[in-house]
Amino acid sequence: MSFLNFLPHRISQRLTAIYFTASSFSFQRRSTSFQTTTMASMTVKKIPALKDNFMYLVVCNETRKAAVVDPVEPDRVLEVVKEDGVQLNQLLTTHHHWDHAGGNEALYQKFRENPEWGELLVYGGNDDRIDRLTNRVGQDDTFEIGKLRVRCLSTPCHTTSHICYYIETDQDRAVFTGDTLFLAGCGRFFEGTPEQMYDALINKLSALPDDTKVYCGHEYSVQNLRFGNTVEPDNADTKALLEKAQAADLEGRRALVPSTIGQEKRTNVFMRVGEPSVQAFVGKSTPLETMQAVRAAKDKF
Ligand SMILES: [Zn+2]
Repeated sequence: MSFLNFLPHRISQRLTAIYFTASSFSFQRRSTSFQTTTMASMTVKKIPALKDNFMYLVVCNETRKAAVVDPVEPDRVLEVVKEDGVQLNQLLTTHHHWDHAGGNEALYQKFRENPEWGELLVYGGNDDRIDRLTNRVGQDDTFEIGKLRVRCLSTPCHTTSHICYYIETDQDRAVFTGDTLFLAGCGRFFEGTPEQMYDALINKLSALPDDTKVYCGHEYSVQNLRFGNTVEPDNADTKALLEKAQAADLEGRRALVPSTIGQEKRTNVFMRVGEPSVQAFVGKSTPLETMQAVRAAKDKF
């Protein structure tokens, strides 16, 4: 690798790191192409992590500034940052669970070791269980990733300090929902009540425009759609999506994300607790009771 001698030290270090990291890749890892959504104002790169988690790199197309959502495997994120030549300085944590926030400390340490990268801002709910928080955020707090405006949605229930991040520009809309809203599902009520999940899914997330892209924290499509199809066997949208998910390989199932708020309103039984069909399945007559009963049914499914 003698050509590296002609390059500035920092660049050669990075290229060397990329070279050795790439060389050590398993075939399986190298064959995993990152699925990318390129919109007018932003680009979102989906980076699979652990068994079924998603990390996301969000890039402002105009400024090339980037933020990462839930980087549990920071080394993989940094590889993508280097390859894409974007400037990462923000970390968005949806909630404190290890498979989401477990990489915060390691990414912070990487920035300490590489002061030329600048400061890493770490956003998250007000919760001491989240490592290295610099910016504690709550409902309707806003900040920018380059020219992208982010609005925080406080969605306690799965955990008490869970935050969803909504990005809206003139052309594009996207929301990062962690373990609050999944494709055709929602997170378990570990630290909250059915009222709180109702507020999150119905009052807050359902209120976003239907074309908002939904980037969730896990790939659970088949399990969730099988349950949805059991609750609403006459829902043609759910049935079609279930068939698509069941016919797909892992890459194909990952490609079902992003969903949209509109699709979730049509197919996600937890977004549909006001529908007579969903209420009938659990024998309840109010949306709140239905939220509780549907979650209980899913927990046993
Ligand atoms: Zn979680």
